[in-house]
Amino acid sequence: MPMDAVEPDTPPPATTDDAPRVINTDDGAKDGLAKCARCGATEISLNVATGNLRCGFCRFEWSTDNAIEAFNLNGDIATLTGLLVGSGSSDIVPSTEEILTFKCSACGAEVVIDTNTSTQARCHWCRNTLSMNQQVPNGAVPDMILPFKVEKSTAVEKIAHFVGKRKFFAHPTFRAEFNAENVMGVYLPYMVVDINAHAKLSGQGEHQTRSYTVKVGDSTQQRYDADLYDVAREFDIHVNDLTVESSSDRLDQNTAVNSNNIINTIMPFDVENSVRYDSNYLAGFTSERRDSNLDQLEPLAHTQAEDITRHRVNDTLKFYDRGVRWAAEEVEVRGQRWVSAYLPVWLYSYQQRKSNGKTFLHYVAVNARTGETMGSIPLHQSKLLLVSGVVQLVGTVIGLVLVAVGV
Ligand SMILES: [Zn+2]
Ligand SMILES: [Zn+2]
Repeated sequence: MPMDAVEPDTPPPATTDDAPRVINTDDGAKDGLAKCARCGATEISLNVATGNLRCGFCRFEWSTDNAIEAFNLNGDIATLTGLLVGSGSSDIVPSTEEILTFKCSACGAEVVIDTNTSTQARCHWCRNTLSMNQQVPNGAVPDMILPFKVEKSTAVEKIAHFVGKRKFFAHPTFRAEFNAENVMGVYLPYMVVDINAHAKLSGQGEHQTRSYTVKVGDSTQQRYDADLYDVAREFDIHVNDLTVESSSDRLDQNTAVNSNNIINTIMPFDVENSVRYDSNYLAGFTSERRDSNLDQLEPLAHTQAEDITRHRVNDTLKFYDRGVRWAAEEVEVRGQRWVSAYLPVWLYSYQQRKSNGKTFLHYVAVNARTGETMGSIPLHQSKLLLVSGVVQLVGTVIGLVLVAVGV
């Protein structure tokens, strides 16, 4: 596959106008019919057991290149300067380009795909699968994809187990309607970000030298002596494979109407095993389209980089046992690399209709790489109150209740 336009080993110098440099991640990709290299069939799908694509006709299996290697994304973060983006991470253009016409290369029919809802479609005349491997200029197709690894039967078991453990607290309607067979595989859109930043922090820290009790009137008080130090830290920070949600629906952490934070609890994903995007990996799964651009996501990524910085610096402050107060904190992002990815999740969702007519979206999610499972279930309030009373006496069941309520 020609890879000429891919970023060379040494990134080009940062441009003065801050224009992002683009890594072409769809070089050599073709629109239209996706065919088996051995027999030419178009019935191609992911074999979850092996992680390979498999021809449904002749059973030939193959895999797509690892994306990190193909696009040289594991290049030294320390040398990152400016803004580097995968071509699939470019801004989304809301326009008629969301409707694309494909000429079916099997029968010649012209098939229209709405990229808003689908990134794979079938020719309605010859039933061949049409693919959209090439990135359309609206950013609908990601740079890379992390294939499903956990099989559906396993996900169904995990979800049934999760719900089973909480059945006692579950709302009767939910219990009656629960059917683990309704589990769906979905690729969720994320941005994977590497950040090269320089941090400078300064402030004052206290180190305790003595502690003693004094008598004040009838009572005693605990006092201490401490030395006060000026503290400064300056270091480079390299953030590797930060994942940022790029669907505005899930960026919306409105806990009144949904339980979006669940997905964060089934992180992390082994994004380093992502492969070059190929729409054949989508067969049998649904996918969601990215609808947020770098402009919106950059502040989130930078805030996370600052949090990581503060967390990391704590290791060097053990001497200041009474704490450090920072007067100035500065995290300067010197370079960043963004690629868009589809990450695999098994979902069981449930729309709860509340008595006030409002709906609340509950779901149980399984990380389709690690099997990590978390979810929320609609609760049976009276049972919960009853149990809360018992818990005050017993106190041991509280963890279970917190898990059921806290998500
Ligand atoms: Zn074949
Ligand atoms: Zn056709």
